[in-house]
Amino acid sequence: MDRITADLIYSPGSLLREHCLEVEEDGTIVALRPIEGKERRLIRYKGIIFPGFVNAHCHLELSAFRGKLKEGLGMTAFAQAIVQERKNIPDESHQLALYDSLREAFYTGTVAIGDICNTALTADSKKEFSKLFTHSFMELIGLNAAQAEEIVEKGKALQKAFEGDSSLALHAPYSVSGALRDKVYAGEKALLSVHLMESGAERALFEEGTGDFLDFYEKIKLPLPSFSHSRSQDHLLENLPQDRPVLFVHCLEASRAEIEELAAAFPLAYFCLCPKSNHFIHNKVPDIHRFQSVTDRLCLGTDSLASNTSLRMLEEIHVLQQNYPELSLHTLLKWASTQGAAALQQGDEFGAFMPGKKPGVNLLQGIDGDSLALSSNNSISKLY
Ligand SMILES: [Zn+2]
Repeated sequence: MDRITADLIYSPGSLLREHCLEVEEDGTIVALRPIEGKERRLIRYKGIIFPGFVNAHCHLELSAFRGKLKEGLGMTAFAQAIVQERKNIPDESHQLALYDSLREAFYTGTVAIGDICNTALTADSKKEFSKLFTHSFMELIGLNAAQAEEIVEKGKALQKAFEGDSSLALHAPYSVSGALRDKVYAGEKALLSVHLMESGAERALFEEGTGDFLDFYEKIKLPLPSFSHSRSQDHLLENLPQDRPVLFVHCLEASRAEIEELAAAFPLAYFCLCPKSNHFIHNKVPDIHRFQSVTDRLCLGTDSLASNTSLRMLEEIHVLQQNYPELSLHTLLKWASTQGAAALQQGDEFGAFMPGKKPGVNLLQGIDGDSLALSSNNSISKLY
């Protein structure tokens, strides 16, 4: 067993000084405790020791899109570019890129991923790379109500290809019929994930019946859907049971009042922010002030490599810290580990140094003195 210490060690309550982490060679935590006097055989590190990152929102199957799309396209042009670019990527590139992604995520300190799946592309790689925990969300899309039953059955069939945790998910308000939504909500109360209020275009579609989505439906040859609600969240969340655990992804365009309303209506909901992806597609990062009432229910994700340059969770933290210097490093690490683990219902396994568990042990270096701001030469080492 090793006894390790650093300038600071993360716990969900605070960053601890003069503490020691006892850990087995295989990464099993034995104890996190104060240092007693002059301890021998203590391995000392400069920096901060914290548990593995939990990336609560990713699309690993889009890994081969890294570097392929332009920044700042906006929602609908981005979605179209994905459809277009997919034709140019050879089949074999997908598996190679996926393998690189899994390794990148793991060796930059991530231990668990909430991963959106539209195909079985990632199933075998996840089995082989089982040291990285994944919750696979089978993402259902469909505006034709008559096909709702078939879409759900396909999703359930797809789920069988995946080992480990999985559940059905819905894509977004503008791509899901009321019938499909109701079938998913009537099923078992498994963890749900939805993209919600990501763009101004989504709001314009529901509130005014205008905007980029009209052109988008035409381009992808879909009849213009008619929604019976004038807010996207009302359409997507009607009939969602209050006690359903759910991950609201993005909410980039949600107002403070709308976030408070969602939080009150769905007490088990978490909100997942993907700052680098938002910046890539929409040229803006989440307005943290709007999420002030739900800071204990925030988690972070990278989104896919179609809209991000890497799956390094530390970069998401860095972007938030650059935009909001008032956010403490402890808070950001909490969102990126403890609260991400809770959001994926893995709080008993990840996100804190719990005896008998293997949450991963990371060392963060390159932090500026008292402010604990990440410097440009910050780095993560995976110790266990
Ligand atoms: Zn996404």
